[in-house]
Amino acid sequence: MNLRQRILALVLVLLLLVLGVTLAIVSRVTYRHTLERSSEELVASQRMLVDSLWTRDGSLREAAGTLAKDDALRQAIFAGGEAEPESMQLALDNHRRRTNADSALLVDLDGVILVDTGDSARETLRGKPFPFPDLLVADATAVEASPTPNGTFSPRLVTLRGRIVQLVCVPYYVPVSAPRPSLWLILGRNLDESWARAIRELVGVDVSLLGANAGGGQSLFASSLPIAVRAALTAESTAHDLPSGSPQVRELAGEEYLSLSVPLGDSVAAVLDRPTAAALLDYRKLVGSFAWIALLAAVLALAGAWELAHSVTRPIRSLEQAARRIAAGDYAAALPIDEAGEVGGLAREFDAMQRSVRAREAAIQHLAFHDELTGLPNRNEFRADLARRISVATREHAQLAVALIDVDRFQDINDALGHHVGDHLLLALAQRLREVALRRGLLVARLGGDEFAVVFPAPGLPETRAVIAEIETALGGSTEIEEVRIDVSASVGVALFPEHGGDPATLLRRAEVAMYAAKKRHTGTAFYDPAQDPHSVERLSLAGDLRRAIANDELRLAFQPKIDLASDEVGEVEVLLRWTHPRLGQVPPAEFIALAERTGAIREITGWVLDHAIAQASAWRREGLDLVIAVNLSALDLLHAEFAERLRGRLAAAEFPADRLILELTESSVMEDPQTALRLLDEVTAMGVRISVDDFGTGYSSLAQLQRLPVREIKVDRSFVLEMTRSNEVAQIVRSTIELGHNLGLRVVGEGVENEQTLAALRDIGCDFAQGYFVSPPLSAPDLRRWLESRGGVVAGASEAAS
Ligand code: C2E
Ligand code: CA
Ligand code: CA
Repeated sequence: MNLRQRILALVLVLLLLVLGVTLAIVSRVTYRHTLERSSEELVASQRMLVDSLWTRDGSLREAAGTLAKDDALRQAIFAGGEAEPESMQLALDNHRRRTNADSALLVDLDGVILVDTGDSARETLRGKPFPFPDLLVADATAVEASPTPNGTFSPRLVTLRGRIVQLVCVPYYVPVSAPRPSLWLILGRNLDESWARAIRELVGVDVSLLGANAGGGQSLFASSLPIAVRAALTAESTAHDLPSGSPQVRELAGEEYLSLSVPLGDSVAAVLDRPTAAALLDYRKLVGSFAWIALLAAVLALAGAWELAHSVTRPIRSLEQAARRIAAGDYAAALPIDEAGEVGGLAREFDAMQRSVRAREAAIQHLAFHDELTGLPNRNEFRADLARRISVATREHAQLAVALIDVDRFQDINDALGHHVGDHLLLALAQRLREVALRRGLLVARLGGDEFAVVFPAPGLPETRAVIAEIETALGGSTEIEEVRIDVSASVGVALFPEHGGDPATLLRRAEVAMYAAKKRHTGTAFYDPAQDPHSVERLSLAGDLRRAIANDELRLAFQPKIDLASDEVGEVEVLLRWTHPRLGQVPPAEFIALAERTGAIREITGWVLDHAIAQASAWRREGLDLVIAVNLSALDLLHAEFAERLRGRLAAAEFPADRLILELTESSVMEDPQTALRLLDEVTAMGVRISVDDFGTGYSSLAQLQRLPVREIKVDRSFVLEMTRSNEVAQIVRSTIELGHNLGLRVVGEGVENEQTLAALRDIGCDFAQGYFVSPPLSAPDLRRWLESRGGVVAGASEAAS
């Protein structure tokens, strides 16, 4: 459920609750009120009923009075005397008819009925005692005029011959002036259905008459109610269950009535009934219209709530959309910052955030394309710019030159004088390059570290050289930084578009190759030369050729003896690999070994060398020539997890003693991943194989660091040995290296011994072994054997190896 739906639901629930409660209260109150009003009307109807009975009583009494004075009737009654009751009855009946009464009686002073006009359908009462003797009073009005205190009715209503009859009694004086009455004249009028209907017409409510029946129970004598309801009324006989005076709600034949019981004498009661449906019609109408109003209110409130929810959620929604746009990198998103209240506050915060993100992104953008230190464009920017220039040059058939500039010995400067000075130097160089760039209209970038790049139009070689010369002059010479004079030179590699490459990546790579060539040859500047490019197609095919060299049997081993300077004996040889390329002839090992290291083929090659060297040494052993072989390893071999295990297998297969094998490796190859290398070296030395550190002095490690390695020997690099007779300094270095090595319990080998002086010098300063062209160049196995024999017999170096 989202916010809007929740607001709507809440409003709806509250609204229904309020409307429901209101409706309940209103309907209850109105219902009660309606019933009250209806009750009042019913009570008024009661009064009208009673009044009408009084009126009837009055008119009946008047009719009786008139009849009592009628001469004709008197004569008829008294002419015949009491012996003529039939004629008396006839006369009375005639007169009764005129008075509109239903029955007429003459009662003598003893209370016996003399004449009964009767009821044709019922028995005559003549000769029987009058059943209501208390009615026979001369001054009837005195008795009957006032209603009894409890509200019962006084005009006499009695049940007579199965009907309810209203009776009046007047005295009959004979003669008229007689002091006492001689007879009683009684007139009766039936209260029947027609009366009930007339009353209903008059008072507007149904009336029913209940009276005591012959069996002592209650009967319904007359009613204006419909037949069905009347049946229910009789069955329930509720007249006496209903308290008189206050109306009650009751149900008759499935309909609700408001009923009021009106006692009319000892044994007669009237019940007034008014269907509540009629009265409640207004109430129902009211409730109905209230319901409509409630519905309308609900619809209006919902519409309002909808609008409210919309106005609340709209800014939130726009915030949400803005957030999404910001996430997508659009920082121009419009936010509802003018909104009041919390949402507006949030929007303003959001806007601030958007601004700062935009600012930060701009800073990052700048950083992404510019070098922080010098402010020059960086590699990314340079590549992009170069790409643009290339597409322009392509259209215009123009040439471009990409020059990669690397400051010589920058690392040394940094190490010696500190990064601080290094940074200043880079800044100074960047400034000078920028000046050249301004003069010549070229693009300068700093690619990283001490590497700068320049791109410029190169219509011909002279123009290109001129620009490069200017760059060299700008960078060369000495620079003073913090009172230190620094002599700077740079190596520049140049690649030309389109001659050397058609895209930025290729041009940069080839400029780099040229730069390294320049650095190696100390030429200052070099143009790209495919022949020197290790990545060039030529070289790539060489890598493929090398992979096939083993299968094609193009590899051979050469062996170079080491001479023991103390005894002049030879007990050890270094194994060196030779490759005769079918087309190129001899390829220098330094070159193809580097290639094999790059392509990963070196592992296979090392395996090949080990197998063949061990096989050769085993063959010599069988011939009685016990030589220790030293095999060169590459950094990659030291990372080979199964190297030690394979070596153990090789030695075991050839039954070659492990202490007749030395593995030569350079410090730097160990330093690439010292942990792995150390584990391997420990394993290998545990077998009995010895480790020798090759090219010692060219790496960064100190002798002390070597203590961590299970090393038995160091080989002082030939660059030192070659120089030691020419430079005292170098000789000093070699001497201290030998001393330190001895202090650590290591044997020291001097390699690259090209002349006698060197050999003598090494012997003088205590070097243990010497290796070099002066002793012997690397030889094939048969040549080595001949060489050893020519030196005066085969000499075993086992004594040294076993120690
Ligand atoms: P390295 O291990 O330092 O091998 C000695 C190199 O010095 C050999 O060059 C050898 O011919 C040369 N040399 C010997 N005496 C003299 C001398 O008096 N003066 C001068 N200037 N050089 C001398 P090579 O055979 O060309 O090997 C070059 C490098 O190739 C070796 O340097 C070694 O690092 C690597 N290499 C050779 N064979 C293998 C091999 O089987 N496996 C591995 N991993 N590397 C090998
Ligand atoms: Ca070596
Ligand atoms: Ca070496």
